[in-house]
Amino acid sequence: MWNSLCERILAVEAPGGPAARLSIVAPSVVRPGEPFTVRLAALDAKAYPSVECDDVARPAAGPAEGLAEVAFEAGRPAVASIDGVTIEDAGRHRPAFEMAGETWLSNPVHCSADAPRIFWGDPHVHTVLSRCHPTACRSLDFCFVGARWMSGLDWVCAADHVSNGRSGKGKWEAQRRAVRVFDDPPHFAAVLGYEASLQGGCGGDNNVYCRGDLEDFIDHYEDGDAKTLADALPDDCFVVPHHTTRPGKHGELSDAIYPGPERMPVVEVHSKWGTGEFRGNPNALHDIHDGPSYVQDLLARGYPLGFIAGTDTHATMPSSFGDDSAHIDRLPGLAAIRAGGLSHEAVYDAMLARDCWGTSLERIIIEEQMAGGRMGRVVPWDHAPRDFAAHVAAESDIVSVDIVRNGEDVHSARGDEWRGDVSWTDEADLAQVAFEPRGWFERPFVYYYLRVTCASGAQAWSSPVWLTL
Ligand SMILES: [Zn+2]
Ligand SMILES: [Zn+2]
Repeated sequence: MWNSLCERILAVEAPGGPAARLSIVAPSVVRPGEPFTVRLAALDAKAYPSVECDDVARPAAGPAEGLAEVAFEAGRPAVASIDGVTIEDAGRHRPAFEMAGETWLSNPVHCSADAPRIFWGDPHVHTVLSRCHPTACRSLDFCFVGARWMSGLDWVCAADHVSNGRSGKGKWEAQRRAVRVFDDPPHFAAVLGYEASLQGGCGGDNNVYCRGDLEDFIDHYEDGDAKTLADALPDDCFVVPHHTTRPGKHGELSDAIYPGPERMPVVEVHSKWGTGEFRGNPNALHDIHDGPSYVQDLLARGYPLGFIAGTDTHATMPSSFGDDSAHIDRLPGLAAIRAGGLSHEAVYDAMLARDCWGTSLERIIIEEQMAGGRMGRVVPWDHAPRDFAAHVAAESDIVSVDIVRNGEDVHSARGDEWRGDVSWTDEADLAQVAFEPRGWFERPFVYYYLRVTCASGAQAWSSPVWLTL
C-alpha cells in the first residue's frame, strides 16, 4: 500500500530536520524461517521522519547480517521497509543497523515456533478533526500513514473528540471511511473509535472502540455517564477510561456508573499525560485529583480492568513524540495485544478479553504464567501456592520486574540485561490479604500484575490476573 501519495503525506505534514536516530521496528514474535518485514526510519530530534537524511543504514553483525543496505535520499521522507527477513534460531534477538557511525538496535524479536503473536498499536490518536490543538494536529490520513510507515505500528485508532460540538455527521463519515481506506489486514489494522467526554462525577473522559462499523457516534456529555453511554452503544462497542487521575472531572468512577467488564474491559494506564498506576508513581500527571482515582484504586473497588496505554497525542504522532503541548509531554504509550492474526476485529477481541498490556516508549515483550493463569483471566483459587514464571525482553536494559498483589509490590527481581526470566512463588495465605467482595466480585478476590521498568525509563504493565476465594 506504500506509494508516492503516502510519501507526500509524510513529507508535507511532518517534514523532519536532520536525522537524530534510526528507528528499527520488527515484529515481536516470528516463526523460525518465516519471512517478515523490518521497518526503518531516520527520525529527527522530535521523531519526525527526516527529509534531509542522505545516510546509508547498513546491517550490523547478528540477525540483520546479509540484509540489503538502505540508502536514504535527501528531499524524501527517510522511511524504508525490508521484506523477506528471516531468523532461524529460536530465542530472543535484536537486529541491528549502523548509520552515521552509530549502531541502532531494533525492538526485541522472539523467534519461536509457538509463542502467541503480539501486535502493537496506539489506541488514542487525535487528528485535526478533534478541534483540539488544531495547529499542532495533522490529518486523518497522516494518522494512518504515520502509524504504519513512520512508527511501524500494526494498528491504530484515530480517537477524535466528539463532545461539546466538536464533531458532526460529516466528520464522523470521514472517520468511518478512513478506517475502510487504511484497514489492510493482515498487514495493518485500522480500528474505528472516538473520544466521548463525560462531566464531573460521571466517569471522566472515555474512549469508545468499535469492533466493526458504527453508523453514528453516541455522546452523553450533557446528560449521561459512563454507564448510560456504554448501555446506549451497540453490543460490539466498549468504553475505556483514561487519565483517570486528571483533576476536575475525573476520579469519580463508582459502583453506580461502572458499566461492567463487558462494556469497560480495560483502562488506559499510561499516556503522554503521565502514568495513572498508583499515587506516588514517578511519572504521574502534572496535576492530580485528590481522591482515589488511580488504576490501583479502581482495581481495589472490584472493577476487573485490564491495561492498555496510548499517546493521547494532539500532534497526531502515533506512539511517538512530536510537538505536543507542555502538559502532554511524557513518554509515548503503546498497547500490545495477543492474537492469532492481525485484524481490527482481533484487536477489539483481545482488548475485550484483557489479553493485552500497556507500555511506555518501548515494545516490551511479556510472556507470562501468573498464578496458574495468563493476564486478563479471573480464576478460582485452588488454595495452592501461586507460581509466577515470566520471560521479558525490552529494547534497553531491564532494571526491575515487580509482581504487584492488591496494590503492593510483593516481589521484585533486579537486572541489568535486555532480556530475562522471573520466577517466584507466593505462599501467603490469600484469605489474609484478599479484598472483601465488592464491585463486580461476589467473592473475596486478589489481583496480581507485572510491572517492568527499563533503564530508558520505559515501563510495561501486564493486565492483571484475578483469583477469587
Ligand atoms: Zn483534546
Ligand atoms: Zn484524548
